[in-house]
Amino acid sequence: MEIPFFRYPHVFGQQREEILRAMMQVMERGAFILQSELEEFESAVSEFVGTRNAIGVANGTDSLNLACRAAGIGTGDEVIMASHTYIATAAAVHFAGATPVLVECREDHLIDPAAVEAAITPQTRAIMPTQLNGRTCDMDALLAIAEKHRLVLIEDAAQALGSKFKGKCAGTFGVAGSISLYPAKLLGCFGDGGLLFTDDDETARQLRLLRDHGRNEAGMVVTWGVNSRLDTLNAAICLTKLRIYPEEIERRRQIARLYRERLADLEDMTLPPGPDRDPDHFDCYQNYEVESGRRDALRKHLQKNGVKTIIQWAGTPVHKFEGLGLPKISLPFTERLFERCFLLPMNTSLTDEEVGYICEQIRNFYGA
Ligand SMILES: *Cc1c(COP(=O)(O)O)cnc(C)c1O
Repeated sequence: MEIPFFRYPHVFGQQREEILRAMMQVMERGAFILQSELEEFESAVSEFVGTRNAIGVANGTDSLNLACRAAGIGTGDEVIMASHTYIATAAAVHFAGATPVLVECREDHLIDPAAVEAAITPQTRAIMPTQLNGRTCDMDALLAIAEKHRLVLIEDAAQALGSKFKGKCAGTFGVAGSISLYPAKLLGCFGDGGLLFTDDDETARQLRLLRDHGRNEAGMVVTWGVNSRLDTLNAAICLTKLRIYPEEIERRRQIARLYRERLADLEDMTLPPGPDRDPDHFDCYQNYEVESGRRDALRKHLQKNGVKTIIQWAGTPVHKFEGLGLPKISLPFTERLFERCFLLPMNTSLTDEEVGYICEQIRNFYGA
């Protein structure tokens, strides 16, 4: 068997006819920028996650940067985030003029609230937790810290559309939450795209100005802004995909159950929390990030047997990228995790047979 890590053609093939119809409607009207399908998608997705406002932007990195700017985060400010995140989280803060402060994660690979509290200085303005791998952080703890120290909370929920903590969706906890619509993400469009969520109507108004050159509805420039709009074509595609989204998430959770059934007894491996383990968490499994004490040999064995795996962020947490000029710090838990972690294939193109084959190859490797 040959099992790629991700099947990009599936992003289209899965709903070929419906997507083509939706695209034709946009293209034949010539309705490319800020047209009705964008509003329809924004309204449908805000209803889906239970927030007052959704704002479509060009990607899930701009969204974080715009959220920083709308929250007034800039020069001299520090923003605390996990080092186990995509460079985009840190870059968004850097390009707002502020400083990313990188901290440890916990056993579930998400930011450690105790590490957040320990990193607070008089310069700290915000916490930016990454809702990693389709799982939402311990938001009770993070919200309590934010309230106690009067910090802004902006979620990088790029990987977590529809993921919940105590019944509340990722991206809806702080002043703003950000989603990526990159093709390999949970809800993938045909290129780059992103979303911002906010319950605060004034923040929403600011974000709508920022994404469109600072122009108001009359076209008057009322502030400095950028060009970062979600294309109407991609909004129409996302609207089509949102209709089957709950089944997509259910399928990912089913695959997570299959992995757990067949791998949980392997002592050298650590699996992500199962979908039915903790009623406080509803996980979407953007990724299936496992740990193995013999990771590199196991990955080689899988590769030889046709199974492609990857390590997130090229195997390097943000604080270890030397070209960024960040202070040299040591994060022992994160560094140890990055000797062990990698991603098994996790997407809705996978069949049960393929998941079974992957597990069989892993069991063979361990002689189990
Ligand atoms: C994908 C991703 C982003 C950035 O999204 P883009 O749409 O590619 O800009 C940000 N943070 C995390 C954690 C991501 O996984």
